[in-house]
Amino acid sequence: MVDLPPNTMVPVYYSTIHQFHNPPHEHDRGFQIPYHEVPRRIEAAKEALEGLPFTCLEPANQSVPDSILFSVHQSALVAYLKQASRNAAAWQAEHPEQGEVYITPWIYPLKPHMRQGLLKSSDPSGCFAFDVDAPIGIHSWEAIQASANLAYSAAVGVRNGETRLAYALCRPPGHHAGPDYTGGYCYLNNAAIAAQTLIPLGSGAILDIDYHHGNGTQEIFWQRKDVLYVSIHADPNEEYPLFAGYTDEIGGEDAPGWNLNLPLQMGSGDAAYKEALDTALKTIQDKGANWLVLSAGFDTCADDPTSSFTLSDSMYSHIGEKISELNIPVVVVHEGGYAVEANGRLAARLLTGLRNG
Ligand SMILES: [Zn+2]
Repeated sequence: MVDLPPNTMVPVYYSTIHQFHNPPHEHDRGFQIPYHEVPRRIEAAKEALEGLPFTCLEPANQSVPDSILFSVHQSALVAYLKQASRNAAAWQAEHPEQGEVYITPWIYPLKPHMRQGLLKSSDPSGCFAFDVDAPIGIHSWEAIQASANLAYSAAVGVRNGETRLAYALCRPPGHHAGPDYTGGYCYLNNAAIAAQTLIPLGSGAILDIDYHHGNGTQEIFWQRKDVLYVSIHADPNEEYPLFAGYTDEIGGEDAPGWNLNLPLQMGSGDAAYKEALDTALKTIQDKGANWLVLSAGFDTCADDPTSSFTLSDSMYSHIGEKISELNIPVVVVHEGGYAVEANGRLAARLLTGLRNG
């Protein structure tokens, strides 16, 4: 177990604000489909976690300070996100017949001169996104901020020694968001914000168990020797985000060996996953991590509509139990998971494993 004193309650950080961010559509290889990243995902997780006998629901009682935010994101991205929600409000007021507006990038500046021109325009969205699946509506900025504040608040509790285990019910998720870009339902990188908050405790690790590689987190810490990034995910040659998550990505010139990608074949199940998890945890231990941020995606489960993996429910208990053997403080940050109701029972299994392992 994560060495909690008996009867210690585990704080679960939650905000209602995420519900106002609810884009209608996404795009999959040219097809327009309903947005997978829906509010019910987090509501299901909240209901299951608050039903556990050892949890207490907490609000985001802290706002991410600029010193943390701007050490993982460029200020231009943050300014853009704020302005984009204002633009969505203005455009919606002008065209009420269109319903709710979600600004979606549609012009991508591949060359520097294109970027310079687009940045000066009324819609620079393509300068801050690598795909079309992180659209921005009137209330998106509020939800993005609230999500980041949950991760920050959870990390502050651990940093201050108030608890050794905390769960942040973040939505929108964050691990695809990089220093200066959004993408894949992600806007600000909640796990990176939590990790940066924990730096006063010494060096640590982020373990990303989402089905998709966390390209944004990898890039944020690429040159850092104080934050190890380890990810277990689907083969990027076949699966989103396609451009990152390969085994030869081991960290930048300043930090070789501080990035570990463990891609698994499409269709992988419990046996392959257990082996990769053992490798991940041994690396985290060998690096002497003092704390762990767990990017917890549940789109690895057999029910998930976006996934080829076939993990059983009991795997999530196993993951929690194995991580607890590290005996270091853990901040769990909710990432993906699109079998909507499964977010509840799997988050409960994971947290129970972490608590009681
Ligand atoms: Zn995912």
